[in-house]
Amino acid sequence: MFFPTAENTSLTKNDALEILDLQGDALNNLIEEAYRLRTKYKGNRVNIQLLTNVRSGNCTQNCAYCAQSRDSEAPIEKYRYVEDKKLYGDNDLVDEFHLSRHCIGLSGIRFADSDIESLAERIRKMKKNGTQICCSIGFLTEHQAKMLKEAGLNRINHNLNSSRRFYPSICTTHTYQERIDNLRMLKRIGFEICSGGIIGMGESKEDVVDMMFELKELNPESVPINFLLPVNGTRLAERDISALTPEYCIKVLCLARLMLPKSDIRCAAGREVYFKGYEKTLFKIADSIFASGYLTEGGQSLEATFRTIEEAGFTWQVESA
Ligand code: SF4
Repeated sequence: MFFPTAENTSLTKNDALEILDLQGDALNNLIEEAYRLRTKYKGNRVNIQLLTNVRSGNCTQNCAYCAQSRDSEAPIEKYRYVEDKKLYGDNDLVDEFHLSRHCIGLSGIRFADSDIESLAERIRKMKKNGTQICCSIGFLTEHQAKMLKEAGLNRINHNLNSSRRFYPSICTTHTYQERIDNLRMLKRIGFEICSGGIIGMGESKEDVVDMMFELKELNPESVPINFLLPVNGTRLAERDISALTPEYCIKVLCLARLMLPKSDIRCAAGREVYFKGYEKTLFKIADSIFASGYLTEGGQSLEATFRTIEEAGFTWQVESA
């Protein structure tokens, strides 16, 4: 079967929808095509990111999936700034093991300049050894974005999360267009962009496809695909996730690889749940993961992650390390 990709000819929305329905031999062929693109552009390495929640909880926004939202009753730890010991300790781990990147997340949607200056100060310290840093943060003013750029921040994460049509079902305190505008501004001033979505929030396959087309338009360096972990105390706590079979999750990642073959395709939250026992296939498609957990949810330890990657026949080491 011939798969149109961003490499050869344009994939249409109908092609993309068909991909999400493939089965049997056709699905195996899809995985092999994704593997060919993964190897061509990303080699055999699985990039590991470590995530530190720098500011936790007390957000003014109502994102349905998020334990840190204003509507969430999830019993999470809430703090304004993580202890320096934890932040710099995580950064040292990234350096020590030559991991790909230190990702830092801050809850909230808008920030005072003084907050951004405190963050910039911490980034300057963490950049001393040249660590690659990505920051997941709400909407920045152009002035604030430039402050972080000057501090050495490499990349900013701001997910689209779903399609434009479905977005009001998961969040009403800001708009999809604000997200797009924010990403365009960040791109214009020279940031690498990390933007992806969450699968399993009740969206249709058309929504998944539409989100992928929006992402293709933005052409981010990194595309994190999260598979919903329903968190107790959030609006999606009881969400039916039975559609998130390993096969379906694999097809979503293949679609991302076909549409954005040169981007980092990251299997983010949900990896340990939905891909358990399917790691060999997973790494044929995705070249990027998190270790040691997510913002408010636990995950696989660093050492266990190394083992999982090696047992699947891939490497996590930097070639020159
Ligand atoms: S996803 Fe971000 S903006 Fe939305 S509620 Fe959570 S911390 Fe706030």
